[in-house]
Amino acid sequence: MNKKRIAILGSTGSIGTQALDVVRAFPDRFNVTVLTASNNAEQLIQQALEFKPKIVVIVNESHYLYVKTSLQGLPIEVFCGSEALEAAVELEEIDVVLNAVVGSAGLHPTVNAIRHGKDIALANKETLVVAGELVIDLVKKYGVKLLPVDSEHSAIFQCLTGEELNPIEKIYLTASGGPFRGKDRSFLENVTCEQALKHPNWSMGAKITIDSASLMNKGLEVIEAKWLFDLETDKIDVIVHPQSIIHSIVQFQDGSMKAQMGLPDMKLPIQYALTYPVRFSNSFPRFDFMNHGSLTFEKPDLDTFRNLKMAYQALREGGNRACVLNAANEVVVDAFLKNEISFLGMSDVIEETLCQVKNSTTLHIDDYIAYDSESRIVARDLILKSKK
Ligand code: NAD
Ligand code: MG
Repeated sequence: MNKKRIAILGSTGSIGTQALDVVRAFPDRFNVTVLTASNNAEQLIQQALEFKPKIVVIVNESHYLYVKTSLQGLPIEVFCGSEALEAAVELEEIDVVLNAVVGSAGLHPTVNAIRHGKDIALANKETLVVAGELVIDLVKKYGVKLLPVDSEHSAIFQCLTGEELNPIEKIYLTASGGPFRGKDRSFLENVTCEQALKHPNWSMGAKITIDSASLMNKGLEVIEAKWLFDLETDKIDVIVHPQSIIHSIVQFQDGSMKAQMGLPDMKLPIQYALTYPVRFSNSFPRFDFMNHGSLTFEKPDLDTFRNLKMAYQALREGGNRACVLNAANEVVVDAFLKNEISFLGMSDVIEETLCQVKNSTTLHIDDYIAYDSESRIVARDLILKSKK
């Protein structure tokens, strides 16, 4: 059997390293042909020595010589910079590109991979938040598969398998609620980045962990779901499910509901995206009903966690709104991680950035990039002013 040849973008991150665990579990089925990282040269080199890809990209150019020298003598080409990341997906020996980069930096590589006929296993939700319509149009035009890795979207995707004739009445995206579930604004006023980084159920990269605490992650996922499953905004509901066992639910026209469940372990959706439409037998831990006596559900608190409300609104207004929301969010999360802004201050800056950057209904990729840059400048400026 031919091995599936995988390019892993963002291989040193939380999703990237778990994707390599999946590859390690199936050495006869998968072959890694591209590995990329932003800064972690040491880990990238170790991964390259183990998986022997054809191409390695270190985005931060200052690490280039070190990576190049460390891999000297091996049949591995080493490149640096964002353009090299984008170009790496063109390699002929790639069947699927697993995009596990964080942030809108993932957009260009996704688009280029689609244009070169590669299937996409998409963890980088920001790709669809920034330019969902454009990306989905390209997916259709080039006839590639877009396979969700995000656990909620993988759940919906799994529930929809075999239901091609049946329209969706509604989907329920489940949310853990994060570390601040049930807290009010007065509590949130003083929370620290260390508190926000303690997610109850998932171990993830810093940006998505903060997004989970602020419910922006669920907002981004609502937008991601709209584009992946071609849904009207009103058909996407969010329900808080603190145990993170039910990963999401589809409701059909007859009122019947299908839910996908399992332990909160990203290796499962990663594996499904890489093996779809079949399932491979693995030895990852199994869910045990006796250890989980109750599964509970709550309404999300949209007044306290305004980001989710803003994301719905951005989706309803369309145009560049989600792109602006995402860019402002990336800036405020980075600032929060550096203690430059408060937890609640993040939503204020996002809201104000949405006011200051004018809306536009645009479809060209350069326009999205321009609005992304403009929004970052506006958001940074607002943070600087708020510190004075
Ligand atoms: P992470 O921060 O752990 O890893 C990010 C990876 O991207 C690293 O390899 C890093 O080197 C690389 N990277 C960072 N900035 C880059 C840039 N500007 N250009 C190129 N590469 C860059 O992040 P993560 O938690 O693995 O998340 C990756 C993506 O997957 C995000 O979009 C996130 O929302 C999504 N996701 C993550 C999880 C999870 O459990 N971690 C779950 C669902 C979805
Ligand atoms: Mg998710």
